[in-house]
Amino acid sequence: MKKWFKNVSFMILLLKSCILLAQDLDAKKIIVIDPGHGGNDSGAIGVNNLKEKSITLEIARLISELAEKNHDQTVEIYQIRYSDTLISLGDRTKLAKALNAGLLLSLHCNHSDNPDARGVEVFVVNQNSRFSEEATWLAFQLQADLNHNLGFESRGVKFANFQVLRETTDLMPSVLLELGFLSNDDEQGYLLKPESLYALALVIWECLIKNIDSYESFGD
Ligand SMILES: [Zn+2]
Repeated sequence: MKKWFKNVSFMILLLKSCILLAQDLDAKKIIVIDPGHGGNDSGAIGVNNLKEKSITLEIARLISELAEKNHDQTVEIYQIRYSDTLISLGDRTKLAKALNAGLLLSLHCNHSDNPDARGVEVFVVNQNSRFSEEATWLAFQLQADLNHNLGFESRGVKFANFQVLRETTDLMPSVLLELGFLSNDDEQGYLLKPESLYALALVIWECLIKNIDSYESFGD
């Protein structure tokens, strides 16, 4: 995609975020979903050419749809990208900040040279900050719910210095989810099915909202 178009898309996103804030500054609890990768960055690719960037975008779209249908409109889901475009990590965190989001969830899928590697990994930032405790708590909740409801093996909550986490941790709990391995036959087969992506979106959405009132980060 041409650079000017990407810049225009990003400016529109920023503008939309400002309009949203102006409309309803206090009433909305804003959750930002960051579909990992996009555009010429496909992320991990499975043997059937299943691309991480497409899975993350579809799950984000489904979470947005669930939010529109099922909630009382006090929770607003905002996606970092709505199409197959690449947004830099720095711009992703800028958007989350501009939106005054109360939670950030970055969606990814995993890949390993070991074809037997499988399961869900959840990352939070490896430093103490105002919201690192809430982020760690949410990470454990997400992992437990994905395990109990969908049978995903838990690989643990891990601590890392990922940019998207590091640059947001002072402002909101931020968590990065690795939703299974595209290098594993079973999990790739699972992620190929539209109903699986819906199931993932549903479990994530319900986990996000079930304790929505407990986060200190909303309403600052
Ligand atoms: Zn990724």
